[in-house]
Amino acid sequence: MRPYILAETNWKSLKPTHIELAVLPWGATEAHNLHLPFSTDVIETERIAAGAAARAYEKGAKLIVLPAIPFGVNTGQLDIKGTINLNPGTQFAILKDIVDDLHRQGIHKLLILNGHGGNDFKQMIRESGALWPDMFICTCNWYQAVENSDFFEMGGGHADEMETSLMQYLAPELVLPLDEAGKGKARKFKINALNERWAWAERKWLKVTEDTGIGDPSKANPVKGEKYFRAVAEKIGNLMLELSDADINDLYH
Ligand SMILES: [Zn+2]
Repeated sequence: MRPYILAETNWKSLKPTHIELAVLPWGATEAHNLHLPFSTDVIETERIAAGAAARAYEKGAKLIVLPAIPFGVNTGQLDIKGTINLNPGTQFAILKDIVDDLHRQGIHKLLILNGHGGNDFKQMIRESGALWPDMFICTCNWYQAVENSDFFEMGGGHADEMETSLMQYLAPELVLPLDEAGKGKARKFKINALNERWAWAERKWLKVTEDTGIGDPSKANPVKGEKYFRAVAEKIGNLMLELSDADINDLYH
């Protein structure tokens, strides 16, 4: 049992332990092309949280990883069978209850480790900061922690080469053979500003992709997945250590 994983530890171990930082992995339950499980974002995010926390804990971080929230914001995929949406307001209600618990218990730093593009915690963190001024909350999208093009040939963003490689490494028993995967071909907006991302609109998923994937997974393999996992866990582990050590009243040079 790992003492920094809440789901595995116990009151005997936790009661006398001082915790500086809570880590909340937040995933989604959604279709991932034809070949990856609906739990892809949950498995990836939970495993990266645990791997990063292990590295931070060894270096002295005082942290605890909470169980992953399995549902995320999927308002663009409501019509895809099996995809379970939390509206942003519901997501914020859950987050506020968790922040309130941590605050009462004297854990005043929270890192939301996000693994799903539809989740956007920035505004919620702003509002939480006004509600709990002595809490420090930050968010990190693990899929943006390192330069993905250093590890993978094809981009995409959803059930792509990166996610497929990662899942082939983390949970190979849940991944179908690549010849059963769709091509992950995505249509673009006719309005180019939306493709250039300086303007934004939600994509209606099934109008963009037929197999629910965005990004060609055909070059994926578990060796790439392991290399990527280690790099991401290392970098986020360093962030966790810095957060654990930080004085939240003295954050600026
Ligand atoms: Zn995903």
